[in-house]
Amino acid sequence: MSINTSKVEEAAFQPASRISSIGVSEIVKLGAKAQALKREGRPVIILGAGEPDFDTPDHIKEAAWKALQAGQTKYTALDGTPELKAAIRDKFGRENGVDYALDEITVATGAKQILFNALMATLNPGDEVVIPTPYWTSYSDIVQIAEGKPVLIACDAKAGFRLQAEELEAAITPKTRWLILNSPSNPSGAAYREEDYRPLLDVLLRHPHVWLLVDDMYEHIVYDDFRFVTPAAIEPRLKNRILTVNGVSKAYAMTGWRIGYAGGPRDLIKAMAVVQSQATSCPSSVSQAASVAALNGPQDFLAERKASFQRRRDLVVAGLNAIEGLDCRVPEGAFYTFSGCAGVLGKTTPGGKLIATDADFCAYLLEDANVAVVPGSAFGLSPFFRISYASAESELIEALKRIAEACSRLR
Ligand code: PMP
Repeated sequence: MSINTSKVEEAAFQPASRISSIGVSEIVKLGAKAQALKREGRPVIILGAGEPDFDTPDHIKEAAWKALQAGQTKYTALDGTPELKAAIRDKFGRENGVDYALDEITVATGAKQILFNALMATLNPGDEVVIPTPYWTSYSDIVQIAEGKPVLIACDAKAGFRLQAEELEAAITPKTRWLILNSPSNPSGAAYREEDYRPLLDVLLRHPHVWLLVDDMYEHIVYDDFRFVTPAAIEPRLKNRILTVNGVSKAYAMTGWRIGYAGGPRDLIKAMAVVQSQATSCPSSVSQAASVAALNGPQDFLAERKASFQRRRDLVVAGLNAIEGLDCRVPEGAFYTFSGCAGVLGKTTPGGKLIATDADFCAYLLEDANVAVVPGSAFGLSPFFRISYASAESELIEALKRIAEACSRLR
């Protein structure tokens, strides 16, 4: 007997509900459009990338090469080699004043996977995660994939883009599982001093069901006399509900090597390993060997690179603040400016288009000025736009000139 399938229609593809509300990130979309324009021959300057423009230092590359020659090409221990965990333990002790035992440390394929593991391992459907905005978009997207509920709190430029204790207190409910903080921040560059963290940690002490995930990814990129601190060092009473997330991507210019790590309470670390074991198994063996060299090796080049970023920060902030309608707070760290653009809203482009939102402004800069930047709406706070200044100074100067000219053409 044959079955007649000619009348059976294929159902249209339906994504699972846990990802249906998550679009491809605005940053990725904008980047793709800018690249396409560049391929068409347009002289687009792209200031969107979230990665240092430096190369990975040679001694780190050499460690990778040696690992390959020594046959370190197999699976490693699930959540990090003993050598890398020891280097991470030493780093936390030396640089942060926090003691983590080896079984309180986990290594993953980038800090992004650390976040994914942590949220998948802890959120039940409907659990709430408090996230100050502007925020790195992956936080809320991963919370949603894990079927949790992001609770976004807008943090104004006037408050230094930092979450205030009263705002945190008001956001906490019996369903709150995590607070996520990121200092220095992508996208605002704002960083928390010890006195900024203290009132927030006091709130958490009063709410023992809320855990704190801190993303210290940009720890080494801080300016002037800013002293980086991490909450587990400030408040040891909270240490057993803090996950301290970090990685080699930004400090050591190793974005492509994909190694992130975290220190935290043993039971959480174990649960995160369960998620990882069924997602990617261990991180890359060669990248782990390279990361040992990054953490244990010379650190002096960090100061040089930091100084170079600081020169570019100063250039960009001064350039933006000289433009009528823009207002840029001086960031304490990372390699981003998050400039206000309220002063250009309501104006009209030479082509007759109204600039109603920060996204309209960024579209205008791309179309008319050949400069690609990312609107604040992509990071949950408007009207702002983010510039990544991890680009050559000559490009930054040219981009600022084009932005100034484009703004002067608005009516
Ligand atoms: N946290 C922040 C704030 C970031 O900006 C990034 C990278 N854009 C990450 C985490 C993830 O870094 P990786 O996965 O490369 O370790």
